[in-house]
Amino acid sequence: MTGNITFTMIKPDAVKAGHIGGILAKINEAGFRIVAMKLSKLSTEKAGEFYAVHAARPFYGELVEFMSSGCIVAAVLEKDNAVEDFRKLIGATNPADAAPGTIRALFAKSIGENAVHGSDSDENAQIEAAFHFAGTDIFRG
Ligand code: UDP
Ligand code: MG
Repeated sequence: MTGNITFTMIKPDAVKAGHIGGILAKINEAGFRIVAMKLSKLSTEKAGEFYAVHAARPFYGELVEFMSSGCIVAAVLEKDNAVEDFRKLIGATNPADAAPGTIRALFAKSIGENAVHGSDSDENAQIEAAFHFAGTDIFRG
């Protein structure tokens, strides 16, 4: 049976620190199926576009600079209740507030350099997956 999807990125801090494997293991253990994945690097323009919803926030400039500072791993994950379950798995935005055992508690450095992205709604999961992947590069079901 197939579930719905969420979109994630392993952010440059975690890629640089060698945590791709550790984070993917947590994702697999939690029952998500990887249905698309690639190592990529965002230009400042692409990072700015991805986070455009935050353009008015004081941290936007830093966020765009950070997200384009190194490679990311982009992936689409499939599971029943994918968006909500993945937000639980990654923990709070600020790793200081993230529950023990969550990906951000284990791997994040700070509220800005917080190891992973996770979509916040089914609608945004679709938009974000399409931002990074062609439909033919997503292998569902
Ligand atoms: N962020 C930041 N400072 C803040 C809040 C957020 O640098 O005070 C960054 C952080 O990398 C976060 C991203 O902006 O993951 C998007 O913020 P959002 O509130 O959507 O958090 P998320 O959905 O990633 O938990
Ligand atoms: Mg968010």
